[in-house]
Amino acid sequence: MQFDAELLLLAMAPVFLACIGWEAWHLRRTCPGEPIYSWRDTFCNAALALMQQAADKLAWLAIIPVYAFFYEHYRVYTWQASWVSFVVLFVAQDLLYYVFHRCSHRVRWLWAAHVVHHSSERLNFSTAFRQSLMYPIAGMWLFWIPLAVLGFAPKQIVAIVLINLGFQFFVHTQAIGKLGWLEYVFNTPSIHRVHHARNDRYIDRNYAGVLVIWDRLFGSYVDENPHDVPVYGIVEPLHTYNPLKATFHEWASMAADFASVRGWRNKWRALFAPPAWAADYHARRAAGSASLTADLSASTSEQSSVNANHTAAFQTTRRP
Ligand SMILES: [Zn+2]
Ligand SMILES: [Zn+2]
Repeated sequence: MQFDAELLLLAMAPVFLACIGWEAWHLRRTCPGEPIYSWRDTFCNAALALMQQAADKLAWLAIIPVYAFFYEHYRVYTWQASWVSFVVLFVAQDLLYYVFHRCSHRVRWLWAAHVVHHSSERLNFSTAFRQSLMYPIAGMWLFWIPLAVLGFAPKQIVAIVLINLGFQFFVHTQAIGKLGWLEYVFNTPSIHRVHHARNDRYIDRNYAGVLVIWDRLFGSYVDENPHDVPVYGIVEPLHTYNPLKATFHEWASMAADFASVRGWRNKWRALFAPPAWAADYHARRAAGSASLTADLSASTSEQSSVNANHTAAFQTTRRP
């Protein structure tokens, strides 16, 4: 790749801003009664994007040598620059993104970063900017190490991660309906609206980055139903436009749970169990239950369904 990948999103900024301007204008004309944009929400999203971009620039400095280490010592193949190698890299990274995204909804440590993307009650192009500066701490970068082992150089890995992220900007809109056969292959605005919705039928579905084939293959796909309009955000809203609170609220909750829960097994669960564990723990505390010292493992298995976990995950975030 001949361009500086780290500048990709910056180079696309005018396109992103033009899309936001068009969408706001279009929706004001076509849906005048629906406040899909608000200045405070959009500024919060923009602030989160700037914070995340700055953190990412620093993080790549530390992470690229790790990829270089695996590329130098453990790669199983050496690719010649070609369209074939690009397609392999693109598909492999998109599959790994699916794994990362699904884990982000199932492991509280990762959810603590990813919840930022979901905590707005609006969905528009600017929601794509709503990212967490804590992704490097959460360990998102670990999911791309297999690409170095597959034989892709660090610069190529960074580039494909950013290309995938850049594509995802375009699925954050309510201004575009279904897109016919594309819905079978690609992540689309309709498919991603479902992912951002908190309706029972939509929660914890459609993890796609660029290709939706992974959701269809692994059973996490659901169609947008015209009779069940998506309701966006988290089950108990954050009620803040403060980007720092949006970034750190789940980490603070997790740290408090880690400190207060008894037993190392439960401390482990406070960090890595599905977010449903935390919801159950909070509910017990709120109820003044005497069972806090009991083994809390039952709470995880009781709420093992994907939907219940995700609902509960959101519940953890709305704790007062
Ligand atoms: Zn998500
Ligand atoms: Zn999204």
